[in-house]
Amino acid sequence: MSYKNYPMVSRVIFGRGSFNQLDEIIAPKRLSAKAPFIFFVDDVFKGNPWLTSRISLSYKDKIIYIPTTEEPKTSQIDQLVEDIILEFSERPSGIIGIGGGIVLDIAKAVSIMLTNEGEAKDYQGWDLVKNPAIYHVGIPTISGTGSEVSRTTVLTGPDRKLGINSDYTPFDQVILDPELTKDVPTEQWFYTGMDCYIHCIESLNGTFLNAFSQSYGEKAYDLCLEVFVENKLSTEDSQDKLMMASWHGGMSIAYSQVGVAHAMSYGLSYVLGTKHGIGNCIVFDHLEEFYPKDVKLFKAMKSKHDIELPTGICADLSETELDIMINVALSLEPLWENAIGKKWKETITPQKLRNRSQECYSYYTFVNLFSDSSFV
Ligand code: NAD
Ligand code: ZN
Repeated sequence: MSYKNYPMVSRVIFGRGSFNQLDEIIAPKRLSAKAPFIFFVDDVFKGNPWLTSRISLSYKDKIIYIPTTEEPKTSQIDQLVEDIILEFSERPSGIIGIGGGIVLDIAKAVSIMLTNEGEAKDYQGWDLVKNPAIYHVGIPTISGTGSEVSRTTVLTGPDRKLGINSDYTPFDQVILDPELTKDVPTEQWFYTGMDCYIHCIESLNGTFLNAFSQSYGEKAYDLCLEVFVENKLSTEDSQDKLMMASWHGGMSIAYSQVGVAHAMSYGLSYVLGTKHGIGNCIVFDHLEEFYPKDVKLFKAMKSKHDIELPTGICADLSETELDIMINVALSLEPLWENAIGKKWKETITPQKLRNRSQECYSYYTFVNLFSDSSFV
């Protein structure tokens, strides 16, 4: 048995207003006047001086605003890297990502691709990155994905949606300033927060669970309940605790794995472009068979916060699209193995999922979800 030797974020700062220390934190990392810091900033903050006036630019430093209508693509990473190489005579001193999971993942991927040959798609998978990334800093402005602590950056490539999982992916520095999340709209707060809740459920109910994952997963789960179920926290405490839930949820899956909801949500995202948080919610809502107690609680949280999930999003999918969705979901083998066990292929096969006469609960889950019941 060989155990994973897991890399961690080397430095982290936590506290309301800690974002003000960004400048002093990164200043010693400047390599030269010609080697800029590049700030990738979620474009929701464009024209928002409350945040942007606190980013101090020197020499050739640059802010690049990142739109978040779509999740990151490998081609987008290649383009950003090419633009940076063409614009600056020296390799940047560092990349700073300020935003949600999309911006954090883009910051990680660009910092890797600035020191590694070829295209981002070549590195989708596990441990394919050869050279250390440049210095990179993550500053989440919404809580839930755990991207701030994880060893992956999730990208959609020409063939698949898969992370660049590597020892060089985690941030060198993270700034956890819960105040930055104060203007997140309620629905998005719920979707991204539920990503954290689902990380905990899938980790805690998975076959890969161990004491390391469990200790973080249980803490994150309890924090999610404080934030989303019990009604006792001040707004500030709620923001603080959700930010720490995200961190712990990320730590929990680091040493275990996610499960059925994530596998199926990746399928949705690949074919329909459904975003991660809402996609997980849409899927999780249908997974009573796998996670009965926690889906029930999810439904209660949904109604408590007046969240209405879209329905029927797969109603018009063709047979081919349905097949692609199923294949993308099933290609994420470690997720199924974690959820069901080593012999998962005996119960969850493409044939079974496609065979409409098969009375298999996983089959019904797929059919209900992916075809809006129209095949049953
Ligand atoms: P996101 O990055 O899409 O952000 C959601 C929305 O919230 C965006 O419209 C954004 O502009 C807005 N937003 C962010 N901060 C805000 C603020 N302070 N005020 C107002 N609006 C704000 O969503 P997300 O759920 O954080 O991230 C999803 C992405 O993260 C996906 O691409 C997913 O694949 C990835 N992800 C990565 C990991 C990982 O470990 N690397 C884990 C889970 C998810
Ligand atoms: Zn997730």
